[in-house]
Amino acid sequence: MDAKAGAQEKFRTIQQDILSISHRIHAHPELGFEEEKACAWLTDALDGAGFRVQRASCGLDTAFVATSGKGPLHIGICAEYDCLPGIGHACGHNMIAAMALGAAIAASKVADDAGLTLTVFGTPAEEVGNASGKILMLEGKAFDGVHAAMMVHPAPVEMLEGHLIAASMFEVHYTGKEAHASAFPEMGINAADALTVAQTAIGLLRQHIRQTDRVHGIVTHGGDAPNVVPARTSARYLVRAENLEELTDVRAKVYRCFEAGATATGAKLEIRGGDKPYADVKYEQEIGLLYKSNAEALGRTFPPMTPMMQRMAASTDMGNVSHVIPSIHPMIGINSLPAANHQPEFTAHCVTPDADKAVLDGALAMAWTAIDIAQNPALRERLTRRSPGLSA
Ligand SMILES: [Zn+2]
Ligand SMILES: [Zn+2]
Repeated sequence: MDAKAGAQEKFRTIQQDILSISHRIHAHPELGFEEEKACAWLTDALDGAGFRVQRASCGLDTAFVATSGKGPLHIGICAEYDCLPGIGHACGHNMIAAMALGAAIAASKVADDAGLTLTVFGTPAEEVGNASGKILMLEGKAFDGVHAAMMVHPAPVEMLEGHLIAASMFEVHYTGKEAHASAFPEMGINAADALTVAQTAIGLLRQHIRQTDRVHGIVTHGGDAPNVVPARTSARYLVRAENLEELTDVRAKVYRCFEAGATATGAKLEIRGGDKPYADVKYEQEIGLLYKSNAEALGRTFPPMTPMMQRMAASTDMGNVSHVIPSIHPMIGINSLPAANHQPEFTAHCVTPDADKAVLDGALAMAWTAIDIAQNPALRERLTRRSPGLSA
């Protein structure tokens, strides 16, 4: 039996467990860095499958590293399992976790014979937009020695290379001074006005940013009572651009809009975060094509990129991984249109029969891709020759 058939045979014995983990994580959504249940279920399953499991990797309670095999080619598979506030698994990270688990266990069956080491990276808090799991795990050297990395993300339609751009999330805090809003308004410093000025300035800034830039945010605290001049307000914003260089440029302009709010009102401005942004995703095309042919062998199809698909720009900390390790991040279609990621309707789609089929196909396609890499002497040589892992 060849290695891919061996992995598929193993996969058949675990596929019900893989789907049950996808459904369980979906039914118990946990926010970034709080994914205790998901983390325990995944590490227990990997432990049970004979992986060497390191919990609380890099000092993060809900990060883990689980390794199988001792071959010289080291392939990493990233799992994500955080949800979105209020709308649960509206990005389908329950599926990402299940696919990583299934792919790794299936491929582990043949890892040593194929000269492979396989590691599942349990990477928390992908949705936070700054200093997230993969970024902290890269800093903590968890990815050192890995020659190639992969993960599969659900989307409305299949895309080998989604449009994944750089992003930076930060919090804005204004501090003013309380006063009776009617009797002594001249004694107040209005921190809500500061936010209004900043948001107006950002509105005007939109004329002068690139078409590919994005600025969006929410007010997280706007005041406490209409008859008290708001002394404390806060907001959370995301700035995005095609790459880190353009991101740095547009973020400086957005920061100046927040400074304008402080200048106009006299409130004090503090910006927190934004210091560990997400990089754009660099795709390793040869591995991507291997994944594509494996997915096609399972009956999946990749429609041509449409303007709608090109406009669907999102961001991921897998971008940071892809800048130091050859990586792929294909999107797997779950036939959800008109529902799309970050909508509650998409949450509902992430446990449908289409989603379950995607979990099984994505997992096996990744397992087969790992085996294909291991069995391709030129690719294997190219990946292992370059200094592995981090330190770029
Ligand atoms: Zn998302
Ligand atoms: Zn996501």
